[in-house]
Amino acid sequence: MRTLFKGGTVVSGQGTRPADVLVEGVTISAVGTNLSASGAQIVDCAGKLLFPGFIDAHTHFDLAVAGTVTADDFATGSRAALRGGTTTVIDYAAPDKGETLAYGLAKWREKAAGRCACDYGFHMTIDDWSEGISREMGEMVDQGIPTFKMYMTYPAMMLPEGDLYRALKRLRELGCLTGVHCENSAVIDALIAEAKAAGHMGPASHPRTRPAPLEAEAVSRLLRIAQVADVPVIIVHLSTREGLEEVRAARRRGQTVYVETCPQYLLLDESVYDAADYLDAARYICAPPIRGAADRDALWEALKSGEIQTVATDHCSFTLEQKRMGREDFTKIPGGLPGVEDRGVLLYTAGVAAGRIDEAAMCRLLSENAAKLYGCWPRKGVIAPGSDADIVIYDPAAEGAITAADHIQNVDYDPYEGIPARGTIHQVYLRGTLAVDRGQVLAGPDGQFIPRGRSVL
Ligand code: MN
Repeated sequence: MRTLFKGGTVVSGQGTRPADVLVEGVTISAVGTNLSASGAQIVDCAGKLLFPGFIDAHTHFDLAVAGTVTADDFATGSRAALRGGTTTVIDYAAPDKGETLAYGLAKWREKAAGRCACDYGFHMTIDDWSEGISREMGEMVDQGIPTFKMYMTYPAMMLPEGDLYRALKRLRELGCLTGVHCENSAVIDALIAEAKAAGHMGPASHPRTRPAPLEAEAVSRLLRIAQVADVPVIIVHLSTREGLEEVRAARRRGQTVYVETCPQYLLLDESVYDAADYLDAARYICAPPIRGAADRDALWEALKSGEIQTVATDHCSFTLEQKRMGREDFTKIPGGLPGVEDRGVLLYTAGVAAGRIDEAAMCRLLSENAAKLYGCWPRKGVIAPGSDADIVIYDPAAEGAITAADHIQNVDYDPYEGIPARGTIHQVYLRGTLAVDRGQVLAGPDGQFIPRGRSVL
């Protein structure tokens, strides 16, 4: 089957240009002006932007947390992803402490196989350390999983610093990368104990017990350990200006540091936790917490300057009923926000249409840099001959509103409810097949596991 996308504006990380795109089968075969192709189905793209399919490299589908399970699994989450223009997700496979990585990977493959509507990969969580895990890290790389995740907080997941160092050394040997959740666990625990002793049991205590300096401190500590291990790292979901300062300091010393942030830190601010109604505040509980306006501005500046390489969602959805679990104790509120369905429109609306970033930056942040950093470039992340025909047709002229009444992610609220949207996802093609048509998901559970290699960013 041949499809000719005619008359649109093709976006890359370098800029925009008017161009036609010819797709043959599952692959892009040509990009250029005035392309013609006999027998091709023509898709009129006049007035539209063509982005390479977005990549969301930070999702948690079908994850058991705090006595419950995320509302979205691979079936619902991946359909929502596609509807939002995301054609590839990279989810965190998370074996429990004591389990082998092979066992954790098998579990995640089973969760996704035959259910995922978009393409997918996994990062492997390292929450324990042994000779076996060290060896298995190499086996993960051989199976197309060259990226890992480590936590400096959460007792069930965090690695003691000696093991963090050992794991980083092993990554250096393998030439691979890990994302790290940076928050100072012990001091957060002490602040939680103080809040509870004072009887402050509501959601407003959540951001107060996880203040900005405790992200910055953990970023700094991680980067100093990475300096000694002599290895690049990725700071995931960076939320603060102070954390960003620590990244700058490490880069000034010559270290390679990659940074991801998320829409919740770019569009919302900490006042969401002051809502009088419990659920109105509890729905925004996530870690790190949503920060202040000055942090938000600093993150936008860093997106523009290129100091932050990717925007992912950290999609980890819970229904309002699940958020009720912490009615008497804010530490029992399951942490995480939905976002996988909204990310593209949010970044266009608050970024491009608002004049904070241009289309090329949006393309780098949502597609190109993620593909390069996470090792699936140029198969993904670019509209170019030979690449998978993953194409988002964006209509910048359309207007809409972001609302839970419209979305299909399996959660009964939207953190961005009521934000007026600039532009809509008109159509999405996954490997050459129309997967979403004006909001309607046509794709079946045909997402493929995408084996990845080493970073080229
Ligand atoms: Mn996460």
